[in-house]
Amino acid sequence: MIDFTEIDSDGEVWELFARDFLEEIGFYVESSPGRGADGGKDLLVTEQLRGNLNKYKFRWLVSCKHYAKSNKSVNERDEINIQERLDSFKADGFVGFYSTVPSAGLMTRLEQLKENGKIKDFRFFDGKLIENYLVRIGYSRLLLRFLPESYKKIKPRHLIFSDYIPVNCDYCGKDLIENHHEENYTGIVCNAEVIDDGGPNKVVGVYFSCKGECDKSLSDKYWREYKAITKWQDLSDIQIPVFYLEWIMGTLNELKYGRLEYTDEAFQKTKEVTLALAQIVMREMTEKEKDRVLALGQIPDWI
Ligand SMILES: [Zn+2]
Repeated sequence: MIDFTEIDSDGEVWELFARDFLEEIGFYVESSPGRGADGGKDLLVTEQLRGNLNKYKFRWLVSCKHYAKSNKSVNERDEINIQERLDSFKADGFVGFYSTVPSAGLMTRLEQLKENGKIKDFRFFDGKLIENYLVRIGYSRLLLRFLPESYKKIKPRHLIFSDYIPVNCDYCGKDLIENHHEENYTGIVCNAEVIDDGGPNKVVGVYFSCKGECDKSLSDKYWREYKAITKWQDLSDIQIPVFYLEWIMGTLNELKYGRLEYTDEAFQKTKEVTLALAQIVMREMTEKEKDRVLALGQIPDWI
């Protein structure tokens, strides 16, 4: 999904990426990846650990290795003198930040160091784990800056409001836009409409659901309670900009020409899915635009 070979293989940009990434997930970066006198490419980051009575600083030595081009794993020969490197920086633990994976031998080596009490802990951020972070909400700027081609493919969700808005299945609760980049066509939004020969049709309910059983249970419910028929659309389709607009314009037109009436609850749900999908369809705001939103008072009253 993410192609790390987009990042230049000389390693320097990979180190900058590691720095920004670790900062983003909450580490304090003590030293930037400058070409230090030590000649190494290690980063030092710290995190606060909370004990019962006290806070503790835990310092990690981060080794950045970018072998995505050759696609080879990082082995013991690539990571020499681990313990000495930790000692010289007074680091407590070791982090391997790799665009590929650590070799089994390197894993064993670190496990031994930990068992023998030479290092307190170790962690690996391998390509897959880093990818898992990047496709989540909130990392789109990092992705856009370092991996612009992958960004285009993934179309990451981004925050428009202070909190992420999910589209949860009204039957099983699953977030239907969590893996939206897979374009899996598994989630739908449905209008439950009561046909009225005399006047406009009435939307008595709008629900979000997985295709299949969840949808069936909900549509049965609306049939039983209201004799309402359900009209559905794929969430994966409404995420396509032109269909997203069609979705909004269609609703506006139906209201304008009196073809549909909504219950308050149904209308609220229509707004909810429109807002949630905007996190996918719309572009990321620039810093300047964010400042402007803040200056004008950011709590919108039109939700
Ligand atoms: Zn479901």
